[in-house]
Amino acid sequence: MATPIGNLADFSPRAQQALAEARAILCEDTRVTSRLLARHSISATLLALHDHNEESEAPRLVARLLAGENLALVSDAGTPLVSDPGFRLVRAAIAAGVTVSAIPGPNAAVMALTLSGLPPHPFLFHGFLPPKSAARAAEIGRIAGMEAAGLTATLIFYEAPHRVAEALTALAEGLGAGRPAAVARELTKRFEEVRRGSLAELAAHYAAHEARGEVVLCVGPAPPPAEPTGDALDSALRAAMGRMTLRDAAAHVAEATGLPRKRVYARALELAGDG
Ligand code: SAM
Repeated sequence: MATPIGNLADFSPRAQQALAEARAILCEDTRVTSRLLARHSISATLLALHDHNEESEAPRLVARLLAGENLALVSDAGTPLVSDPGFRLVRAAIAAGVTVSAIPGPNAAVMALTLSGLPPHPFLFHGFLPPKSAARAAEIGRIAGMEAAGLTATLIFYEAPHRVAEALTALAEGLGAGRPAAVARELTKRFEEVRRGSLAELAAHYAAHEARGEVVLCVGPAPPPAEPTGDALDSALRAAMGRMTLRDAAAHVAEATGLPRKRVYARALELAGDG
């Protein structure tokens, strides 16, 4: 179940009740969760579940669930599984036929998306980019490849504060300096801030003022591919018609350019007629 991402008042009564009733609570860091529970006078048995032991613990935990135990899962903050542990356990529990439920609540990615001013759907939640620059550039290159193939989604990344400027610079280089973007910082907390601008503007801002606290980066969707000019359409059609039937050539060029099939087919007929 979800726990606050900064503002303790966001801990829902239903989540508190479920935690108080659980036989045990699986959590990332027992110190963090015990502090949260103490503030709400909830006493519970805490078991650590993190990236290093989740795979090995999952069978034992699923056996306990199958025996009828009520186990709750939380992470340090926000919604478990979302850039946090829990997926492997949930997948194992589902595979074993255990009923799994969730108590929804705070999530930094969705909150940043709602405040970004960028189109809310489709969105692609990426989580953290690789911290090293070569791996990060390669990952951004893969995203650019998906965009070249037609993906037009608002992109959401989690990022550590000291890497915000370099991540924005890498995104500007890989996806386009003019892409609209937003940096959402310290959400639900006292110094909550959302800064909007192009990737280049935001990269310049954070190069001069290091981001403090927790940060989500949102990048607006790739612009739709520019409509080919009449000449470009004609030469694409002529090239395709040299290799395939007129109908196939029109379908192929329509697919590649995103232009309406009817229009491309009509132009292919005209070109064929011109001989
Ligand atoms: N499971 C969490 C959720 O539901 O949002 C995210 C956990 S992930 C390990 C932590 C990252 O989430 C941070 O590095 C930051 O990018 C983002 N984050 C968490 N809390 C935030 C907040 N209050 N404001 C902005 N970003 C936050």
